[in-house]
Amino acid sequence: MSYVTGLECSMCRAPFPPRALYVCDQCLGPLEVTYDRDRIRRTLTRELIESRPASLWRYRELLPIDGDPRTGLESGFTPLLRADRLGAELGLRELWVKDDSVNHPTLSYKDRVVPVAATRAVELGFRMFGCASTGNLANSVAAHAARLGLSCYVFIPRTLEPGKIRASAVLGSEVVAIDGTYDDVNRLCTQVGDRYGWGFANINLRSYYAEGAKTCGFEIVEQLGWRFPRHVVSPVAGGTLLPRIGRGFDELRDAGLVDGELPRIHAAQAAGCAPVIQALDAGLDHPEPVRPNTIAKSIAIGNPADGYYVLRTVRETGGSGAAATDEEILDGIRLLARTEGVFTEPAGGTTVAVTRKLVRDGVIGADEATVICITGSGYKTSDAIADSLPPPAQLGRSLSEMDAFVAERDRRHQEVGG
Ligand SMILES: *Cc1c(COP(=O)(O)O)cnc(C)c1O
Ligand SMILES: [Zn+2]
Repeated sequence: MSYVTGLECSMCRAPFPPRALYVCDQCLGPLEVTYDRDRIRRTLTRELIESRPASLWRYRELLPIDGDPRTGLESGFTPLLRADRLGAELGLRELWVKDDSVNHPTLSYKDRVVPVAATRAVELGFRMFGCASTGNLANSVAAHAARLGLSCYVFIPRTLEPGKIRASAVLGSEVVAIDGTYDDVNRLCTQVGDRYGWGFANINLRSYYAEGAKTCGFEIVEQLGWRFPRHVVSPVAGGTLLPRIGRGFDELRDAGLVDGELPRIHAAQAAGCAPVIQALDAGLDHPEPVRPNTIAKSIAIGNPADGYYVLRTVRETGGSGAAATDEEILDGIRLLARTEGVFTEPAGGTTVAVTRKLVRDGVIGADEATVICITGSGYKTSDAIADSLPPPAQLGRSLSEMDAFVAERDRRHQEVGG
């Protein structure tokens, strides 16, 4: 019941069979999945999608699996929150937060790409499932491998946040910490996959994995009542998510499920690792690799595999991009938390901080509907903000101490307020 017609090189358009292939043997371009778009147009309706369970699989005709989904039956379809209090702070009248920080089961956007790669890994007969990761992908790969009973190896740079390393370990994966950056880890894994015949979510299964990211775009449109926003702000690491949000918009329009002008898609990166923003500013087609140095470890990829596609999508949609310093990222985390009650990790703080700049620079107008992608949970990375928060008030057990504390606090607030 698959609508997939095969794989195709995104550079030279050479066709390939839908196996665990990811680069063109002619020109080294990345391979992407192709679908029978006519059949999709005839089959898929808003009503059919809305009748299905609230998960990423409600768009299954637009996803590259042969049979039934094997995992992720509760993943995706995360909340789209109307964020009026954050909007007021940023100067936006219609702001929405796409909240993947509560994606099931590992609290990041990776729970919408991994179920697709994992289902495909099973269909293609892999018994070992793994990834090269900056942390969140490792958590998600470990969790979905556990549910499927697959053996699992995750490869990470040694300097990741302890919370993310422990989560991968408790989820039953073999955690391999490499002495190097993410880009070193990725290079090693490219060789490991071929040598041992293992399925790597973001390497030899990358063509399928990337398709899962389209569901973020599908959900934004459906949750807005089958309409496009004017702007989307997305963080960029390896560059899977941002172009696939654009592809998702495109495919829904092609299927006749939404119409209107495609949103402008803007890229958010940390100043300590901003190869895509630098390439945008310099007018380059391909980012120049950089060496990451930022607290936003989940998006610290100096040589983004899909950087070319990020740049193309941003330019084609009339988008832009900006980078945020670590200090601005921490401010972004605190601002989202105290206005909307959503505690995100540094990647989300980056998105908030960059959105603030884009509004300030007039790129996003005050009346233009805007969706920001919050891609991970701060509950995994609370160390990142530890030094920027006041310690808890220390009191004894008596009511008189409490009275004195409240009186003092009121007095201080009056001073600040007036
Ligand atoms: C992986 C990740 C991203 C974006 O990654 P891409 O490789 O660009 O798709 C963004 N935020 C978080 C929290 C992530 O884990
Ligand atoms: Zn090619």
